Amino acid sequence: MNSLLAPTGNLRRLRPHQARALEALRASLRAGHKRPLLQAPTGFGKTLTAAHIIARALERDHRVIFAVPALSLVEQTVSAFCGEGLGCIGVVQADHVLTDPSQPVQVCSVQSLARREKPEAALVIIDEAHRMFASVNEWMTDPEWANVPFIGLSATPWARGLGKYYDDLIIAARTAELIEAGYLSPFIVFAPSEPDLSDVATIAGEFHQGELSDACNKSTLVGDVVATWLARGEKRPTLCYGVDRAHAEHLQQRFLEAGVAAEFVDAYTPVEERERIFRRFRAGVTKIITNCATLTTGVDLDVRCIVDAKPTKSEMLFVQTIGRGLRTASGKDKLIVLDHAGNHLRLGLVTDIHHEHLDDGKPKKAGEDDRERKAPLPRICDGCSAVMPRKAAVCEACGAVREAKCEVDAVDGELVELGSGTRAEKWAPTASEKREFFGELRFIAAERGYSDGWASHKFREKFGHWPNDAWTRSAGPTAPSLKTRNWIRSRAIAFAKGRRANGET
Ligand SMILES: [Zn+2]
Repeated sequence: MNSLLAPTGNLRRLRPHQARALEALRASLRAGHKRPLLQAPTGFGKTLTAAHIIARALERDHRVIFAVPALSLVEQTVSAFCGEGLGCIGVVQADHVLTDPSQPVQVCSVQSLARREKPEAALVIIDEAHRMFASVNEWMTDPEWANVPFIGLSATPWARGLGKYYDDLIIAARTAELIEAGYLSPFIVFAPSEPDLSDVATIAGEFHQGELSDACNKSTLVGDVVATWLARGEKRPTLCYGVDRAHAEHLQQRFLEAGVAAEFVDAYTPVEERERIFRRFRAGVTKIITNCATLTTGVDLDVRCIVDAKPTKSEMLFVQTIGRGLRTASGKDKLIVLDHAGNHLRLGLVTDIHHEHLDDGKPKKAGEDDRERKAPLPRICDGCSAVMPRKAAVCEACGAVREAKCEVDAVDGELVELGSGTRAEKWAPTASEKREFFGELRFIAAERGYSDGWASHKFREKFGHWPNDAWTRSAGPTAPSLKTRNWIRSRAIAFAKGRRANGET
């Protein structure tokens, strides 16, 4: 039972953004939600945050199941928790040395849980919740587990239908905020070439893999990837993503021919071999690891360049891919992304990809997607092929000044910082502006003796979504501007008119 004593005592303290996330999570559970989902981008400190959630449960003598989406992640999760000082862990997996059902925290793979009786628990945490499994969906909707809270964790909770299983989205922080605060690395993107995908079909929202491979696995394109890396990659430790095994191996081969130490990893690479490759990478002996979608989760390498040669229509896959390079490291100034897939022009900068809601699986009407205006897709510098925000007037990479192509451009062409999106676009209300507005609403609510629920409703009226993220929710009451007061007044007048029109008194 010793392991149950003061489990928080050993944990590192939470950073402010992590503490805010926990506060928001607790508020969500207090409000009666049973299936909250915490969105935490790469670099948020998910493991430490989860360790604190678990520690609090243990303080109340609650048993916890922590479910990971793959067998290969069990080991890594256990050692990450141990590293944070959380010791009382058992593993549910055949013949695992840490099998110990008496431990209050059970780390399990989704696959193992599907096959056997689930351990007793008063709290379930689902890691990488966007990777939905039928067995987990069933579990979450099983009446026997209805009163047990399930907390989903994900950096990219945008899977279709996720909102059918989770009842609250807590946006703990945005990638742009974490970059600004120095928790994630800034990045710069070059998009010197992209394959012609006009003949590639789309199936269930994603490119047809076979046709995609045919379109991308061409000698000239692969040669171009290598040439770009030699010119712009600065010999940085690099992960290179190909479409499939053949493409990734082709890339590796061409890097080797160019005298660059490159290795290849995929899902079939034995664990020991993979570890040896990672060791050579860490030692700097290997410069580039090519792969095909294997290295998207749970890779803890100091990556300073990403070569993205795998076109995708999936925001989740794209954000996870770039996310592998966003960790900070000593001596790391930035991440360089070499996009040979057209992904940035198709999906935008990862700092611009954001959704305020979970997808409920229902078909969408045109324009209904988020109601929050999306940042416009970026463009490419004519001078150096750097990817830059649509309205940027100067290229951050080469300093080229863009000539306004039309009057509208010139009017809209406000100067913003480029690349890492450290300053939000003026195009849509920024996160800070929304937060400030919420603070003003809370002030008015207090003034009039209304509940915070009133402030939330007014916020939704203004922006079309609830003040969901922890940062917004943490806004303290601030004296409202005249503009905000006028807006409230105009809403009240509109409301009164509406009532009269409906014949109410
Ligand atoms: Zn440029």
